[in-house]
Amino acid sequence: MAKCPLCGSSLDWAGLIEQMLAIENADEVFRDREKFMEAFEDFVFKCPHCGEEFYGRNLPAKEAEKVFELLNEFKGSIDWENRKVRLRLNSLLALDTMLENWDKKVKG
Ligand SMILES: [Zn+2]
Repeated sequence: MAKCPLCGSSLDWAGLIEQMLAIENADEVFRDREKFMEAFEDFVFKCPHCGEEFYGRNLPAKEAEKVFELLNEFKGSIDWENRKVRLRLNSLLALDTMLENWDKKVKG
């Protein structure tokens, strides 16, 4: 799970993505994996717990890619009018990790 690199608090992916929705051409960026990852790594996020700022590259890239997939997989995942994320990204990521581990267990 994503954690603030400065204070160590757990971060909510939906909240992080909502910070990114303010960027220019966000609707375009959120449809293109390469553009999204580039924008993500260079984006300056603000931790809602300690208020410090850090770059997206300090967060797990694998989770960011999964978040991109989830946002594109579900129609209406982003409420563009209100700049809100409608998906519970942390729950979906946790579920995904659980299934991955289960898969490994079964195959192992
Ligand atoms: Zn923090």
